[in-house]
Amino acid sequence: MSESKRLFFALALPDEIQQQIIHWRAASFPPDAGRPVVAANLHVTLAFLGELSAQKQAALETLAGRIRQPGFTLTLDDAGQWLRSRVVWLGTRQPPRGLLQLANMLRAQAARSGCWQSPQPFHPHITLLRDASHAVAIPPPGFCWSFPVREFMLYESQFVRGRTRYTPLQRFPLQP
Ligand code: ATP
Ligand code: MG
Repeated sequence: MSESKRLFFALALPDEIQQQIIHWRAASFPPDAGRPVVAANLHVTLAFLGELSAQKQAALETLAGRIRQPGFTLTLDDAGQWLRSRVVWLGTRQPPRGLLQLANMLRAQAARSGCWQSPQPFHPHITLLRDASHAVAIPPPGFCWSFPVREFMLYESQFVRGRTRYTPLQRFPLQP
């Protein structure tokens, strides 16, 4: 019997945006503001699936592969802090309709397949700092962080030797 995997659908970031974000973060927040998420782990979660069997993973991959959704442009022009979850995040003031539709579809497919979905409304964001337990000043995002999104990804999340590591398992193209 195969083991279960901890899975989620997410958007990856272009390398140059990833690098610009970590430089902006290093210049914008003091070291005690929180624990920086490593560059390779910066992402926008679309739907969290949890621990899935190989069979359930395959079923959800099939459903995700049937999504016919146009690509969109994502603009990172917002930043903030959620004290309750102790994160500092980067986000977008006006989530593109395509992003909301994609996340809604993936979350609905996950829910129908028995994956518990948070009742919280979807708030697309990139977690920048964790364990940010005291309020910090949040400067506005530094650059024009706008980029085309042409695919979404299925990731496995593993906790290995004290570190969270995401492994891309499959990419799903969006429509041109
Ligand atoms: P760690 O939990 O090891 O500190 P992490 O939160 O990045 O790191 P996961 O818990 O595997 O790793 O989560 C993967 C992604 O799914 C992250 O974006 C996380 O915020 C999101 N996520 C995790 N649990 C849930 C949940 N119950 N509901 C919605 N999103 C979730
Ligand atoms: Mg977690």
